[in-house]
Amino acid sequence: DNWPNRGSITIQNMSARYANTLDPVLTNVNVKFRSGKKIGICGRTGSGKSSLTLTLLRMIDIIEGRIIIDGIDISDISVLTLRRRISIIPQDPVLFCGTVRFNLDPERKYGDAELWYALEIAQMKGYVIEMDNQLDTIVTEGGDNISTGQRQLICLARAFLRKSRILIMDEATASVDLQTDSTLQSVIATAFSDKTVLTIAHRISTILDSDTVLVLSEGRVVEYGTPQNL
Ligand code: ATP
Ligand code: MG
Repeated sequence: DNWPNRGSITIQNMSARYANTLDPVLTNVNVKFRSGKKIGICGRTGSGKSSLTLTLLRMIDIIEGRIIIDGIDISDISVLTLRRRISIIPQDPVLFCGTVRFNLDPERKYGDAELWYALEIAQMKGYVIEMDNQLDTIVTEGGDNISTGQRQLICLARAFLRKSRILIMDEATASVDLQTDSTLQSVIATAFSDKTVLTIAHRISTILDSDTVLVLSEGRVVEYGTPQNL
């Protein structure tokens, strides 16, 4: 089927931890994101921003409460489906060992024209054209022959191809590649305008553009609302 077809997210009384020997890193989170909204997540280092996004992919254990996406509790969805349907651009993405084509389309579902279009949308086309074997260029393990910013753009192109209703972006810190960061922001504002996008934001400019801002402190939501009201 095509779940999630809208991309609404409800997090109810959710607490989560990395292992049952460890303390919770998120406590009693209660938030609701309507489909198509842009959500900025901020807070100090260690406050739980990345952990919150990882709970959506069931990469850490939910010990209390639940997460509902388009009416379905994510604990009822297979982890494989969940991770295919929700796209994430991590702070430091690791590509698969293989070609650009394989990284964009591991299931070989799309033709060249669609791959090039997705690269163009993600503003990555120019770089791939310059590569010796273009779509068939091999990116080495861990993606060392391609910059971190370019890896993020490849992830973005993949999310666009998959038509993911939900996109998570763990934005690079202020010191890292300002240029790529503004490229990512503008692509998200245009090509992902109807998608639900959660951005872990380190810059005030990113937050100002969001529909909703969520501020975390020590694993708890301490502010939640429109940027104007914070
Ligand atoms: P940053 O701004 O530095 O990226 P963050 O807000 O994303 O920080 P998290 O990475 O979510 O913070 O960390 C929240 C808490 O979870 C911290 O106390 C951290 O030590 C802990 N934590 C993070 N990753 C793991 C892990 N793999 N195993 C155990 N604890 C972890
Ligand atoms: Mg983080």
